[in-house]
Amino acid sequence: MTEAERRAALDAIAQEVAVCTRCRLHQTRTKAVPGEGNPETEVVFVGEGPGFNEDRQGRPFVGQAGAKLDALLASIQWRRDEVFITNVVKCRPPENRDPEPDEIAACAPFLTRQLEALDPALVVTLGRFSMARFSPGARIGQVHGTYRPADADSGAPEALAYAMYHPAAALHQGSLNEALFRDMLDIPAALLEARARRSLEAAPEASAAAEAPVASEAANAAPAPAQIPDEALDPEPASSSASEAETRPAAQLPLF
Ligand code: URA
Repeated sequence: MTEAERRAALDAIAQEVAVCTRCRLHQTRTKAVPGEGNPETEVVFVGEGPGFNEDRQGRPFVGQAGAKLDALLASIQWRRDEVFITNVVKCRPPENRDPEPDEIAACAPFLTRQLEALDPALVVTLGRFSMARFSPGARIGQVHGTYRPADADSGAPEALAYAMYHPAAALHQGSLNEALFRDMLDIPAALLEARARRSLEAAPEASAAAEAPVASEAANAAPAPAQIPDEALDPEPASSSASEAETRPAAQLPLF
């Protein structure tokens, strides 16, 4: 897909979301919140659903949880306009209650289509509702800070899904704040791994001939990232090519 085609696909989804009446959440919303970001990004962040401020503005993560997400991104020298940010449900659940299973199901095709258009290497799930979409059956307390291949039905079957606590959780529970920032630091390594896997999948013969190249070589062979500069993939930029991020990828969950 060209960049123009991606933009067109994302715009079409956003227009449908804006007038959607597929579930009861449309009755109480002010504005639907389709999501926003860089259509050429390699990384998509998926939260739970809009809160008060998001509902007013029609934009994701613009309230307190958004400030936390911005700070998390800044901790690895990333900005929100370099990634794409969206939610499992696109309309605010009243009083910020958890989304109901039928609401999640009604909204699911929008997220699937967004992911099909974006084709990200890495999906970062924020909170348990988002995690459940990409890693069914996982428990967030056990899997936060780890990745696994995204569920085949998610819309991003070639992506790795990296689980994090929800940024809002850190607002209520200080101990989770530390976990969130620690987990964020491993995202660049997870992206390198995701790139390496995609380039191996794209060129399996070349990879066999090269006798299983290490992740760093495969990552270098991958197309350049749209917006995220390579320096920003290493939280501690090193002069050596064998940076810590390349030699110590984030832990991978066994498939279950
Ligand atoms: N929490 C979410 O999960 N999403 C938002 O967009 C804002 C807060």
